[in-house]
Amino acid sequence: MEDCVFCKIKKGELPSTILYSDDDFMIIKDINPQAKIHLIAIPNEHVPYIDMMTEDGAKILGKIILKISHLQEELGLTQGYRLVINQGENAGQTVLHVHIHILGGEKLKEF
Ligand code: AMP
Ligand code: ZN
Repeated sequence: MEDCVFCKIKKGELPSTILYSDDDFMIIKDINPQAKIHLIAIPNEHVPYIDMMTEDGAKILGKIILKISHLQEELGLTQGYRLVINQGENAGQTVLHVHIHILGGEKLKEF
């Protein structure tokens, strides 16, 4: 999508710190961190909302979660981390391109 922030980062049209990327997704640093470590895992395919995803898209989300667990050490997350997906208005989703927040690097507040 032309005016999507995450698609622009993917295309190199916006600067970002990309920590990992493969054929399916990339992991970048969040520009406005809500924890000591705040990363975002972003599938390459532009899909605005979780409820618009295909089965294949959902499989990629599964692969992303598994890959994050394999990257714990290099991402500084060995003491634990939290994954969050904001879906829609009530959750405060601001970027309409499905993504997973990765929060860690410190003891997170319980909820
Ligand atoms: P959400 O509220 O779940 O849609 O999350 C969108 C996230 O994207 C927020 O945490 C923003 O800080 C982050 N964000 C927005 N623009 C950028 C950018 N250019 N680079 C990195 N992170 C961004
Ligand atoms: Zn996009």
